[in-house]
Amino acid sequence: MLVDMHFHIDSKWHNPELVGKTLADIEKNRMLVAANSTDISSYFETLEISKRSDFVFPAFGILPWYAHEHYEKLDEIEIPLNEVGMLGEIGIDYKHSPAEAEPHMQKALFEFFLAAAEKHDLILNNHVRGDETFKDARDILGSYNLKRVIMHSHYEQPEGMRELADRGYYFTVGQGFVEYRDDEASNRIKNAVREIPNDALLVEVDTIPREGWVPPSSKLKSLLDNLAEFRGVSIEELEDIVHRNSLRLLRGVEQIEQYVKLLESGV
Ligand SMILES: [Zn+2]
Repeated sequence: MLVDMHFHIDSKWHNPELVGKTLADIEKNRMLVAANSTDISSYFETLEISKRSDFVFPAFGILPWYAHEHYEKLDEIEIPLNEVGMLGEIGIDYKHSPAEAEPHMQKALFEFFLAAAEKHDLILNNHVRGDETFKDARDILGSYNLKRVIMHSHYEQPEGMRELADRGYYFTVGQGFVEYRDDEASNRIKNAVREIPNDALLVEVDTIPREGWVPPSSKLKSLLDNLAEFRGVSIEELEDIVHRNSLRLLRGVEQIEQYVKLLESGV
């Protein structure tokens, strides 16, 4: 069974006219997607879409890019976090955020989610970007007792990768691994991916281009193909590794029992 632990399906990131086609593709290929959201309206839309397919697992998060709009109104968020199995995508990003989303605002928002994850044993889908951000992210994450952590397309220096892996965090490897042509960026990603232990390895499609729709299952298979070759395993072995890791990560979170059952139903 194919598993994508970091996907987007709401209209902020996906062509709304193509949602039906995308759902048909993931069902036909039995591909479970963790559909991340990036703000409140994106979550409600994702949640609605998830009702149309057993293979769409909705997650609630606010991207740090929008921290300035939310960090002072966190008590007004009416989404019961204990009822959501996964919080994503959340994080800190000093590289791509607009200037008004200041680091202290991003940190306040991030910690709001981390506290909820610690309290309710939720899965986290983390977005961390920028060399200056990595250390802060490690420090902040390390100050909470977190058992189910995913770092999404996270490619920092090998020492940082090792520290996170030693904590038992998971990593979704994405399109950047396949597409980067620039040598320096490409080498950096490959060096980071090399540090990910087999039992922490996950994969992601993330977004589907608005123009020129590609079936998500094809995107995922081409990623698996590349990654399997790089890691020196067969595609089947890699699929098994990702399936096993996903099951270990999701098992025990009551709110998402239906997705655990789907994974347990196997191929
Ligand atoms: Zn994403």
